[in-house]
Amino acid sequence: MAEAGSFADRVKQQADIVRVIGEYVRLKKSGQNFTGLCPFHGEKTPSFAVHPVKQIFHCFGCGKGGDVFSFVMEMEKCPFPEAVKVVAEKCGIPVPRPKERTPEERKENQQRAVLIEIHREAQAFFVRQLESTAEGRAARAYLEDRGLNAETIAGFGIGYAPSGGDVLLRQLKPKYADKLLVESGVISRDQSGARLFDRFRRRITFPIANESGKIVAFGCRALGDDLPKYLNSPETPIYSKSNVLYHMDRAKEPIRRQDFAILVEGYMDAIAVARAGIGNVVASCGTSLAEPQIKLLGRFTKRVIVNYDPDVAGQAATERSLTLLLEQDFEVRVLALPAIGDKKADPDLFIREKGAEAYIKLLKEAPPYVDYLIARARQMDLSTGEGKQRALNFLMPYVQRIPNRLLRSEWATRIAQQLRIDEPVLRAALNKSATERRSEVKVSPQLVGKPAKQIERRLIRMLAEAEGFKKELAQRLQHGRLYEGLETEKVFAALIVAGLSDEPIPATEIGAQLDERERRVFFEILFEDAQEPTWEEAESCLDALRRRQIEQELAKVQKTIEANPSGAGLRELLERKQELMKQLTAAGQPG
Ligand SMILES: [Zn+2]
Repeated sequence: MAEAGSFADRVKQQADIVRVIGEYVRLKKSGQNFTGLCPFHGEKTPSFAVHPVKQIFHCFGCGKGGDVFSFVMEMEKCPFPEAVKVVAEKCGIPVPRPKERTPEERKENQQRAVLIEIHREAQAFFVRQLESTAEGRAARAYLEDRGLNAETIAGFGIGYAPSGGDVLLRQLKPKYADKLLVESGVISRDQSGARLFDRFRRRITFPIANESGKIVAFGCRALGDDLPKYLNSPETPIYSKSNVLYHMDRAKEPIRRQDFAILVEGYMDAIAVARAGIGNVVASCGTSLAEPQIKLLGRFTKRVIVNYDPDVAGQAATERSLTLLLEQDFEVRVLALPAIGDKKADPDLFIREKGAEAYIKLLKEAPPYVDYLIARARQMDLSTGEGKQRALNFLMPYVQRIPNRLLRSEWATRIAQQLRIDEPVLRAALNKSATERRSEVKVSPQLVGKPAKQIERRLIRMLAEAEGFKKELAQRLQHGRLYEGLETEKVFAALIVAGLSDEPIPATEIGAQLDERERRVFFEILFEDAQEPTWEEAESCLDALRRRQIEQELAKVQKTIEANPSGAGLRELLERKQELMKQLTAAGQPG
């Protein structure tokens, strides 16, 4: 991945993997390696190793392994360029500004910068309107009525879009081309295309920032009974609603620290929860959570409490989100707030009425999603067989997504008890669906290959690091095609290509060419304690492979002869057999 001469390559050369990983894992020196408890799977005895010379890590438990960048990518749940930056920063290497490659890219970047600038100006404008106009003061009274004080209003950048229809437009028009104003989404064009006007009118404005804190859109709530109640920015070159979570820019640190996030529906909910002192809250801004939003969240935590509105739409949204979150391996709990009087409570209303303490208490008690779902299923009519079947059909897709078999089994028991369903019947249904699903479940133990034989392991190790003779060894293996048919054939093939090249090729690069199972075998071999290789030993390994090759051909010839003892070509076959037996004797006996 790190191209020679690239910035990533430079960072890799300079970064000390032991130091970088040491910031996440307590490492102890053990022989030539460092070991510690694997951060990627739960364990009590260390099976996680870091190789300071080869600059690689490998876990003998779960099989994760790679270089310093793959470690950071996995740990921080971030893409490669981000990982390069993280490592560079940890090692004090200045990060260059990204260069645009083509004129189009430069134009796009410039355009994005202008769109962000327009949002910055619009934001300042909305805030001013709320502060200093008569209309704005009415909006302020409304906000205060909803329990938002001046500090919160300022803290969340809440503003007001006036009713005039072109007040913002007049402000922006002298500075920006019409086309860019429309592209930004804060200004609209009427159907004739002739007239421009403010998109948001007579609305409270909530700035929506991207992950790095730049305002890229607005979410706006009608002040009166105007419809729609909520109106948001359209999709623009800087904003896609499925990529952004409201409040993520501020929530990411608390989320990382506490290793869980609270997911709510709207900005008012997020603001209410954040004001209650719970910073790790984000809003999906709309009832449906999209996969990119989950991936964004997944970079910071894999644990989430879903606290959507308790109405029908909110329940449907909760269940849809659950499916997506479970697919992305999240650990999910669901908080369904109790009604207040006869009103169904969203987080905003609940905190206003009952206070932050009460909310935090419920948050702590939020049940795992299966409990929530069982409770939902119990609301269905369970008095008939059909009703039970419906309840079961409702639950089954979620239960199937529980990756852990024991846990799945436990839930099956609970569901059977709670819905009064015959347990064997339920288990049969569950097992059936589990089998159907098997192909999509990633089972890592299957990846563990049979251990490569000792001779193969030694040769692989020599090919990887016997600086004195690895080229010679690669040539010999290549020439006699001695590695063909070995279980580790692909590892050999990659190492031979590397060995024959004059450039040194690092282990991680070779690992990157292998599939997961072969990479594991390869890394395990690199971490084995082993004595210095000698050419003598290499030769004896080569002899062994040669013998194996001859023996295999001999067996094949013998089989052909036996299959057709009177056939044509028997003479040639017998001659070949003699020849092979002679070779075998010359190759010596296995020592
Ligand atoms: Zn592990």
